[in-house]
Amino acid sequence: MELIEIGVNLAHRRFAADRDAVIARARTAGVSAMVITGTSVRASRDARALAAARPGVLWATAGIHPHEARDAGPEALAELRVLAGHPEVRAIGECGLDFDRMFSSQADQERAFVHQLALAVERQLPVFLHERAAHDRFAAILREHRARLRGAVVHCFTGTAAELDAYLAMDLHIGITGWICDERRGVGLRALIARIPRDRLMIETDAPFLLPRDLPNRPKDGRNEPAFLPHVLAAVARAAGRDAATVAADTTRTARAFFGIAGARA
Ligand SMILES: [Zn+2]
Repeated sequence: MELIEIGVNLAHRRFAADRDAVIARARTAGVSAMVITGTSVRASRDARALAAARPGVLWATAGIHPHEARDAGPEALAELRVLAGHPEVRAIGECGLDFDRMFSSQADQERAFVHQLALAVERQLPVFLHERAAHDRFAAILREHRARLRGAVVHCFTGTAAELDAYLAMDLHIGITGWICDERRGVGLRALIARIPRDRLMIETDAPFLLPRDLPNRPKDGRNEPAFLPHVLAAVARAAGRDAATVAADTTRTARAFFGIAGARA
């Protein structure tokens, strides 16, 4: 079984001490490729450097998270444009809107989002999207740009049926994390998995965040890591009513096509 991790914050300081071991454990667990999420200019720079050092295994996105949108000035966007020109960078993002905690103003978030969508169009790269408590504005902005975008994945989808249907109507891809494993918060999400077309579904851990709550032998420090992706796969497969091997093959094929990652057998 071969898996592709589409969202791991491997540049995060919580992986600084043992990053190589984390990567090795993931590969042993069947994760053949990982896309490192860029959440700021600095994190994107680090993600790109990590990917450049592990060709064919690590890839990167370049973007500014909505929480960091207040820092998305002209210089930051110019640096993202340069990063986006590197072959390891396979998507723009994560970018989008997060009205849950409002670490940046709505105006700053919308401006940073639109600029990154324009960059993705210019570079002909797909976008890696983040949306929390902001569906209506997020969908409205995305709808204006969708026709020119090569592809778009809503990462860590946790929304409602109506929100999912709106995203699928825009032909978006959907990323599912270990949120689905939460015995309470994951109930609604589990009921929606079967609605996602097999060629639009991808899986991710969002590590070091979102450690699956039902993981056996949970690490005491609560840190998630990409080696736990098979656990997310199993939960997605149960919710989809398909066997894990089928979901693994489908999500891996989908991720390869979406991020332009060549396969061992391609
Ligand atoms: Zn996110």
